[in-house]
Amino acid sequence: MIKQKKTGQVIVISAPSGAGKDTVVKELMKNNPDERWVSVSATSRAPREGEQEGVDYYYLSKEEFEKKIEEGYFLEYTNYAGNYYGTPKEYIEKKINKGIDVILIIEIEGAANIKKLIPEAVFIFIMPPSLKELVRRLKKRGTEDNEKILKRFHAAYQEINEVTKYNYVVVNDKLEDAVNKVESILNAEKCRVDRIEEVFLDTKEEEIHELLMEKDFDNAKQLIK
Ligand code: 5GP
Repeated sequence: MIKQKKTGQVIVISAPSGAGKDTVVKELMKNNPDERWVSVSATSRAPREGEQEGVDYYYLSKEEFEKKIEEGYFLEYTNYAGNYYGTPKEYIEKKINKGIDVILIIEIEGAANIKKLIPEAVFIFIMPPSLKELVRRLKKRGTEDNEKILKRFHAAYQEINEVTKYNYVVVNDKLEDAVNKVESILNAEKCRVDRIEEVFLDTKEEEIHELLMEKDFDNAKQLIK
């Protein structure tokens, strides 16, 4: 009856740091590892303890990053809290054409740039239950000193004000609920009518339709049997 687009979708996920977006995405990947791919960004910030090159980020010096900007290596990039972050172009189109959804975990300015480049992308904002809870999570993570936490708090405040530019907002109070909500959003997006390529009837259905148009109910009934 319908033929749907087989291409993957670009899914942009933003959230203030500490809202738990990486954990949500990890769970999404566990649910459906073959149909999704998380883009690994490049950054000029130093790796945090436990982070791995090529897994969490590609770590570049400021100079290396700027060289790559000039070479047109990034789909989008930004300067966030004093460091560069960017989405490498390579792979994204290939994954989409193979029917794999591409997840970009990026901040709001990058998301706005993606909206200009790929308006049909799906934009999801993960919200912490409160700013107080966000600070508590950042302190618990222990990767940033107080000054950096204040910077992140300030950034979070500004980011939350931009939430209406997204298509969906999910509050990450309980991880399991948040993951289920994002999963439902992704499922619903697959059913959007703008993903229909063609609506068609098979030969028999066409014949029945024509008979009904001619009000030839007897022959139509025969065909339906
Ligand atoms: P963090 O330093 O906590 O890993 O990341 C800081 C912010 O940069 C987060 O909001 C993260 O989602 C965002 N970010 C990570 N990679 C990219 C990217 O490639 N482009 C943009 N615009 N933001 C990114």
